[in-house]
Amino acid sequence: MPSLIADYWRRENGLGLFLDYDGTLTPIVPNPEQAFLPREGVELLRNLCRDPQIQVAVISGRSLSQLQHFLAELAGEEMTLCGSHGGEIYLPKKGEFLRQPDRQELPQALALIRADILQQLAASDYLNQGVRIEDKPYSFAVHYRQAEPPVKQQVMTLLTHYFSANPATCRPFKLQPGKEVLEILPATFDKGNAVAFLWDNWRLPKGCYIGDDVTDEAAFAAVNQRGGLSIAVGKRPGMTQAQYICPDVAAVYAELAALLES
Ligand SMILES: [Mg+2]
Repeated sequence: MPSLIADYWRRENGLGLFLDYDGTLTPIVPNPEQAFLPREGVELLRNLCRDPQIQVAVISGRSLSQLQHFLAELAGEEMTLCGSHGGEIYLPKKGEFLRQPDRQELPQALALIRADILQQLAASDYLNQGVRIEDKPYSFAVHYRQAEPPVKQQVMTLLTHYFSANPATCRPFKLQPGKEVLEILPATFDKGNAVAFLWDNWRLPKGCYIGDDVTDEAAFAAVNQRGGLSIAVGKRPGMTQAQYICPDVAAVYAELAALLES
């Protein structure tokens, strides 16, 4: 079976395999609580983790605890979990953190911004029009998937304006767009940053990143810079920095299966 990754790697030395979770290993589902890994995915990932030449990392915007929940069956494998866009980096098998944010400072500073934005969203009645806030350990997200297009636009404007009007308060944070969501998170939490950290830590000769979202672009850039392979899932050509495109999650699994067989 032809495979982008196997052709690129050719089993010369080691390979770092960096995988996004939602939209890459699981199809996007209406309720994010239900984004379970398919059975096929559990088995493939287990075998990839057990390949002595491959280092596997899952890098997601989800919190580390959510990633641990969805990947609980793989907790005993040699896998690295990067939650909160790489703000939290954890080795489940060893129970060890490679990167852990300050639990006190960040949420306190963020609470102020969250209170202001919540008040503004409520004042415009957006919370009754399909807009909702999701709290994470070190960030919060404003989701507008369920809102009408004019409301989506107004919410984006409101948040952008808040950031430019409050530079001192907002400086340690950034406003990061995703699929039908804007997330307010520490400026240093970045998937590209996480990939660079692991790539250098592992002294990788080769690496590959697969992801589907706007937030994966930083990781594509980091991988491209290091001569790695970048693959976007379900994107149109010209809309991504990734070198290659996989049409959907099934194609990602076909790639991973071919890699194992190489
Ligand atoms: Mg994704």
